[in-house]
Amino acid sequence: MVTYHVISLFPESLDSYVNSSILKRAQERGIISIKYYNPRDFAMSAKFDPKAVVKMSYAERRVDDRPYGGGPGMVMEALPVIRAIAKAVGKAQGEKRKAQAKRTKIIFFSPSGKQFTNTVADSFKKYTDIVLVCGRYEGIDARVKKAFPMTDLSIGEYVLTGGELPAMVVIDTITRRIPGVLGNDNSVEERRVAGSDVYTRPPIIEYKGKKLRVPKILLTGHHEKIDEWKIKGKSAR
Ligand code: SAH
Repeated sequence: MVTYHVISLFPESLDSYVNSSILKRAQERGIISIKYYNPRDFAMSAKFDPKAVVKMSYAERRVDDRPYGGGPGMVMEALPVIRAIAKAVGKAQGEKRKAQAKRTKIIFFSPSGKQFTNTVADSFKKYTDIVLVCGRYEGIDARVKKAFPMTDLSIGEYVLTGGELPAMVVIDTITRRIPGVLGNDNSVEERRVAGSDVYTRPPIIEYKGKKLRVPKILLTGHHEKIDEWKIKGKSAR
């Protein structure tokens, strides 16, 4: 069982994706589990006054502030995020804590992080607990990275409004590579001739007077030739 611990101000934004299709089934079958921790639940007060929290409505709890040194936007405060991560990694102490730390990977999403790939996903196989720290606004106070060992990851060279899509990308990529998750394990790309165009029935469709056909080779049942065709198709792109 792999448990994903998502640290996010907007956990509901993951709902429809992770609760559909294969990820939904993987949860129902106990192969993965997804837990959420909202830094807002760990925000103490609007003015660093711990007592104020009781008087404040949930929405009033402060989770961001202006960046030091100037610049646009707001930065997520370190402490609510640190407390949320601490909750996710648990309270084990001593030897137990060490053993648990070995099984836990903490990922900090940032557009300038290391590029996430299938290879990186496979390097996470040894972990039973994966903590995904999702930033919003201008990002998270970088001192969070001093509180726990963690890896900066980017899902690509573009900037999103938050780390929730990256969390979904990472959860999806790792999960579909766990043996037994896909109906047929051969579906994992790297274990077969990968990534060509795919077709299904019917063999001919008509659209706006044009006949669109499935490449003939795929209908022959010649597996060697079909594999050759798939490899060629891949390099042609
Ligand atoms: N000013 C920041 C942008 C923050 S974007 C900068 O240029 O670095 C807000 C949050 O979205 C980030 O903290 C990060 O968690 C997430 N994010 C945005 N784009 C991302 C990407 N390509 N990969 C991973 N996380 C990303």
